[in-house]
Amino acid sequence: MILVLYPSLPPEAVARVVAEVRESGYDAHVSAGSEHTIIGVVGVTADKEELAERFGQLEEVERVVPISRPYKMVSREGKDGTTVVRCANGASVGGTAIALMAGPCSVESEQQIETTARAVSRAGANFLRGGAFKPRTSPYAFQGLGEQALRYLRTCADAFGLAVVTEVMDVRDVELVAAHADVLQIGARNMQNFNLLREVGAARKPVLLKRGLSATIEEWLMAAEYIYVGGNHDVVLCERGIRTFETATRNTLDLSAVPLVHLLTHLPVIVDPSHGTGRRDLIAPMSRAAVAAGADGLMLEVHPNPAQAKSDGPQSITPEDFGAVVRSVRPIAEALGRELPAVVSAA
Ligand code: PEP
Ligand code: MN
Repeated sequence: MILVLYPSLPPEAVARVVAEVRESGYDAHVSAGSEHTIIGVVGVTADKEELAERFGQLEEVERVVPISRPYKMVSREGKDGTTVVRCANGASVGGTAIALMAGPCSVESEQQIETTARAVSRAGANFLRGGAFKPRTSPYAFQGLGEQALRYLRTCADAFGLAVVTEVMDVRDVELVAAHADVLQIGARNMQNFNLLREVGAARKPVLLKRGLSATIEEWLMAAEYIYVGGNHDVVLCERGIRTFETATRNTLDLSAVPLVHLLTHLPVIVDPSHGTGRRDLIAPMSRAAVAAGADGLMLEVHPNPAQAKSDGPQSITPEDFGAVVRSVRPIAEALGRELPAVVSAA
């Protein structure tokens, strides 16, 4: 259940309620909204009605909201307002802004990431993506440059005012990746790696949680709940396609997930049409569709020479293509009252 406190209470009043909840033997998760502070009471299994009545009588509590969904704190009821995740360079995800994350599937060399960072920043990207640790189906495929790649990402992102988003695959690497990146990406294959979710839940960097290849929306939101109740409230969801019977595309990009997730949770959701379709000729239309569906951002694989890419070449677009995608998405964003990052000059 969730306790919605009266507006503008001083911290001591919030602390009194938290203490009351903890003394009763439950966990209390505090979420400060624009007006109301909300306290999630976690661990209640029995006597729910009696407990709701008791907490409802506290003078700080305006109302008690029972939550029947399995995910609590990330549910719409779990917060007053929507979550906007802010990064160090001023880039944010959620609210009216649409985030543009662009870069290669894998960081392959300093020159490759530098060329890409320059071009995508000029075309309007505000996040640089690139894999340092790659989850590859084959153990013989390129596995990423690891720590060296993290350094290249950081240097190039700083040179062009971008935030870094990169995947962390292993609990042992969370500290290392967090030292270089602005956003920790949890890849589709690790969406239910619960130890990893707990570890990034304890990190002080925003997390981009990709939907698992065969995850239901409920499972995806439960994974987000792990991170959230671990203490990290800066969670961004990413729809990246799910596996279906269809083989004409790499995955089936589930765009209905975007408006549905907005109904179910206060967390922002972005879309990755690159992994979602696996085909570069579908990136522009599916980017437009994603923004039309209400996505809070796009993640696109961009490579200076897709034919030579060490991973995901067929779904990678050139920096010039990326510029064209951004231009074609802009009128849709504007029609919906959303803003894309400013373009420095044509790519
Ligand atoms: C990626 O972003 O390069 C990636 C591996 O994505 P996913 O986990 O969605 O397959
Ligand atoms: Mn990829």
